[in-house]
Amino acid sequence: MWTDGLAGWYARGGRHHLPWRHTRDPWAILVSEVMLQQTQVSRVLPRWRPFIARWPDPGSLAVTPLIDLLRAWQGLGYPRRARDLHRTASLISATGWPRDERTLRALPGVGEYTARALLVLAFAAPAPLPRDVNIARVTARAALGVEPEETRPSGLDAALASARPPRMSRRCFVFALFDAGALHCRARPLCAGCPLARGCRSRERLASGARQPSRLRQARYAGSARQLRGAVLAALLGPDPPRDLGALELAVADVAAARPAGAVAASVDALLAEGLLQRAPAGVATRIHK
Ligand code: SF4
Repeated sequence: MWTDGLAGWYARGGRHHLPWRHTRDPWAILVSEVMLQQTQVSRVLPRWRPFIARWPDPGSLAVTPLIDLLRAWQGLGYPRRARDLHRTASLISATGWPRDERTLRALPGVGEYTARALLVLAFAAPAPLPRDVNIARVTARAALGVEPEETRPSGLDAALASARPPRMSRRCFVFALFDAGALHCRARPLCAGCPLARGCRSRERLASGARQPSRLRQARYAGSARQLRGAVLAALLGPDPPRDLGALELAVADVAAARPAGAVAASVDALLAEGLLQRAPAGVATRIHK
């Protein structure tokens, strides 16, 4: 089996220090999953515990004004995640936790992966295993001998469903695959020392250079519209927010210099459309959604 050796390797070399692996609380797990969606582990690590300490359950976040959450979220990026988490907290505190994939996916910001992660990691439900980028890549390569984009999701699900090593819990199996993907089976794989090397169906192909995996080109952040939107939001969340568009343009001038004329106003419009700001008569948002 392609996962032979995984259990022992995980016991010895897994990332057991990650604090969200030591809870089954669905809220704590959801917060970690949302934070990790687009932010590196190293940046989430110092932020997760304080977040859970401040908002230990959905109800505590639901009664918090969104502006406070957005301020606490600064530095993690992609604040739409915070907005969605806020909405999800309100729904859960009103109606409780959904217990199936379809209903979980109806929550804002919860897709197939996050729904399955909650079902398997928090609720111990017999759901299909969650498949993030790392797990999809390691499974496609090791089990099927292809890159993830060369197979169907159902093929990955089937490969995962039949590969859990005996005496390894579903939770630990997921954690171990996360780790094999993050530490070894990266876009450019580090096959030496990989716990799956012995049974991997891609090792020879990748080692021989027969097919180098394509690298996704990371969109440049510096000078991007996303960077400007972040700067605009940060300025408006500050203790003394700019009162009009001119003051706002001044506050973000460094970042806006790389963007076309009108970009600051366009950023405000985008933030308004995303529900992160509330429209204000002066043409610039001065108050955030409550
Ligand atoms: S042996 Fe290489 S290609 Fe196979 S799973 Fe490990 S890192 Fe990935």
